[in-house]
Amino acid sequence: MKSYTSLKSVLAEFFPLHRTLASDDHDKTLEIIGSYMPDSSNYTIETYAPLEKAWTWYVPERYVVHEAYLEIEGGERVVDFKNNPLYIVSYSLPVDKTLSFEELQPHLYFNEKRPHTIPWVFKYYDRDWGFCLPKNIFDKLPRDKKYRAVIRSEFVTDPKQGFKMATAVIHPEGGASVSAGEIIVQAHTCHPMQANDDGAGVVSAIELARRLAEKPLPAGSMSVRFWFGPETIGTIVYLSHNENIIHNLRGGIFMEMTGNKNKIAWHHTRQHTHLLDRITNFIVGKSAHEERDFAAAPANDERVINGPGVNVPCISINRWPYDEYHTSDDNLDIMHEDMLVGAAETAEHIIRIYASNYIPKRTFRGPVFLSGNGLWVDWRENWALNRAIEKIMMRFEGGLSVFEIAEQVGLDYWMVRDYIEKFRAKGFVTAEPIPSEAQNA
Ligand SMILES: [Zn+2]
Repeated sequence: MKSYTSLKSVLAEFFPLHRTLASDDHDKTLEIIGSYMPDSSNYTIETYAPLEKAWTWYVPERYVVHEAYLEIEGGERVVDFKNNPLYIVSYSLPVDKTLSFEELQPHLYFNEKRPHTIPWVFKYYDRDWGFCLPKNIFDKLPRDKKYRAVIRSEFVTDPKQGFKMATAVIHPEGGASVSAGEIIVQAHTCHPMQANDDGAGVVSAIELARRLAEKPLPAGSMSVRFWFGPETIGTIVYLSHNENIIHNLRGGIFMEMTGNKNKIAWHHTRQHTHLLDRITNFIVGKSAHEERDFAAAPANDERVINGPGVNVPCISINRWPYDEYHTSDDNLDIMHEDMLVGAAETAEHIIRIYASNYIPKRTFRGPVFLSGNGLWVDWRENWALNRAIEKIMMRFEGGLSVFEIAEQVGLDYWMVRDYIEKFRAKGFVTAEPIPSEAQNA
């Protein structure tokens, strides 16, 4: 595992690459991410054969651009892919044509609101060819000249050069707990030369992984699965080819746009009032934040993880909105280290509670003989907990998790958890896992 001085420096390594659904630069990005993930997390890059079915979708082909440019005939080059991958519409079809301005115009894209920027445009499935350029340059293009449009692109279906994504898993103290299951953390990797959306989420997730490896979750907690890959279709391909992991997923966090200077926003799960929503609200609610419904803009892979036939409760964390979105202004200049780290910290707090939470279920009858079992809390040492003993003991009927008990008695989660762990050590409660909401069809 490589060390780093800042998350921004990690982001700078893969930011300028021609990242897209499947490309050589996307492969490089996954390699770079892996070099920073904890050694213990078993970071693995997986490859899927193009055109294979993935539920109602198919695995996309690899996109190779040998050369792409737009020229004024007999004159200057307007845009050149080798200077910036944003200059062409992602997954543009090949073209080599001389056209009038009128013929060319439907293939040109710009951003009215940010006329100095190159917008990011993609046409992955409804394919066409096109160039993206600043509005300021578009306005100056001579209307009476001929243009030469060249995109030498290739769609590769060789299964060995397939569609890639990566996973890693960080286990709690003592290894995986089969009954506790896993929580999945996702960040997508497919936006070419875009910093906040989506490189920022990736580096915040790397920071999160390192924190969870350095200070593991308590024994018996959920494992934390990390996933990096192309947005939406990546998750669809992954889950459709690994359906066996779905039932094991107890929750998810999608992270992106974590680096711009703005407060944290979180999106509810599709369940809306799930334990994961309440824990997130508890953590994020401590400071200025924004709260949104499930799949509100910007919606991402949580629509798959928490979608039909999967239904794993998944929240999203971001710092949306920001004006530079999907333009060449979404670059390292708008990235702030404290924002990137802050988002990782927020996710860490949520995971530490959500993944270590369980439902304590009573095995005893009658009030427990506290002092006889070392469970008495001296009021001189902890007055608040002393006052709450009875209330806690009355809540071991199997309907409430540790977090909910802590909420109801108004005490800190970790204090209540530590106390309940003592009952558990004595065999007075069993730890029932947070039930899976996953659908298996
Ligand atoms: Zn995006």
